[in-house]
Amino acid sequence: MPGPGPYLKELMRLHDERQQNERSNFEYLLTHYIGVNQEQRQCLRAVLLGYLKTNEVVVGGKCYGCSVCVPDLNFQQYPVSLRRQAVVRLMPETVALMEKIESSNPLLSANLTKMQI
Ligand SMILES: [Zn+2]
Repeated sequence: MPGPGPYLKELMRLHDERQQNERSNFEYLLTHYIGVNQEQRQCLRAVLLGYLKTNEVVVGGKCYGCSVCVPDLNFQQYPVSLRRQAVVRLMPETVALMEKIESSNPLLSANLTKMQI
């Protein structure tokens, strides 16, 4: 039976990989949600949905419910039904495909979960 060396090495590799992924996700949140070092910001709702991995996306890149999509903050100009329709749940097949791709290369996960349709 092999000693703990190979297991420890694999554990540390996974640990480092996960740490890198979490840093990448946090940096993405800082730059895209808070807007650090970025002139043009994305839909805040889309960024948060991706960050929280809700398996939902903002259709058309405009949610009608955040300060980026409605810069004058006059949210009442858009009906609630329009704001609801702006966010859709991904099909289970799409989620499964994304998870499969993500598991094949964990370094991709930071970017795959933040995509917009
Ligand atoms: Zn928005």
